Amino acid sequence: YKRMAKSSFEYVKNFELDDTLLPNSWIVVRLDGKCFHKFSDDHKFAKPNDIRALRLMNYVAFSVMKDFNEILMGFGQSDEYSFVFKKQTTLYKRRAAKLLTVINSKFSSSYVYYWRKFFADEKLRYPPTFDGRIVLYPSDQNLIDYMKWRQADVHINNLYNTTFWTLVLQGNLTPNQAEKKLSGTVSADKNEILFKDFNINYNNEPEISKRGTILLRKTVNSESLNKNITAIVDVHDDMLKDNFWKVHSSLFLDRPKDILVYDGPVTDI
Ligand code: ATP
Ligand code: ATP
Ligand code: MG
Ligand code: MG
Ligand code: MG
Ligand code: MG
Repeated sequence: YKRMAKSSFEYVKNFELDDTLLPNSWIVVRLDGKCFHKFSDDHKFAKPNDIRALRLMNYVAFSVMKDFNEILMGFGQSDEYSFVFKKQTTLYKRRAAKLLTVINSKFSSSYVYYWRKFFADEKLRYPPTFDGRIVLYPSDQNLIDYMKWRQADVHINNLYNTTFWTLVLQGNLTPNQAEKKLSGTVSADKNEILFKDFNINYNNEPEISKRGTILLRKTVNSESLNKNITAIVDVHDDMLKDNFWKVHSSLFLDRPKDILVYDGPVTDI
């Protein structure tokens, strides 16, 4: 049946606030796991980097991007993921709450849905929670600096964590002792501890841990289908180098093509 056109209650609708995001600016959604320090302990994540957890995060982000074509690129590390929308997107009329909640909801439920694909032997003990925020960046340079900021964060954290856990797991220091030893050290000191005391060359650590994961849409040639297809690919390139932004300058076209020319191998996310 059809509802009456107006009820005497309908005025409450006017209490809803307008949260339309500024036009012509980059919309970034960043999600971050709530209390994942504890969550990772409770689920026996390997320290410092559980590769299963990183791959789950990537797969979940991949499934979000598969559902939302308006997302141009993603970047993930640790328990966080950033999604960058096309600058001119009109998805949900750019309403902030709609955008943030659908992305977070899709991400969170997918994390649970795909858990077993990556953690075959580890039972999910309770539902995880993710917080989320939206940040707007008016200029391309602001967006580039945002991405650089997140990737620089991976580097700082991962070098610290790698050294910390090497001191604990191989150097038999207590966490307290390891923390003391590292306090006040700079990057060069940590590289030296790893190399001199443990014969670990930090440069040889996996790219996924050192740089996080960038998800991009690319055209790739499918040999089995014998044609070009659009795929979402994961790369671990260095966004701090300007060359990355030259190679991917088409991200900044007014009407970005979904399809970029991809010159590297497609990795299995
Ligand atoms: P908050 O709720 O404030 O975000 P948090 O405990 O989630 O608190 P974060 O700063 O987000 O703190 O850090 C996430 C933590 O989750 C890391 O410090 C690490 O302990 C753990 N973690 C996340 N991903 C992994 C992983 N792939 N392998 C091992 N540990 C991980
Ligand atoms: P939108 O994405 O705009 O919310 P929608 O399809 O979810 O679109 P709603 O107005 O939210 O539309 O309506 C939810 C619909 O879901 C209902 O119209 C009904 O078809 C279905 N639905 C929800 N709960 C039930 C239920 N318990 N039993 C049967 N159908 C249900
Ligand atoms: Mg947080
Ligand atoms: Mg967190
Ligand atoms: Mg975090
Ligand atoms: Mg509905």
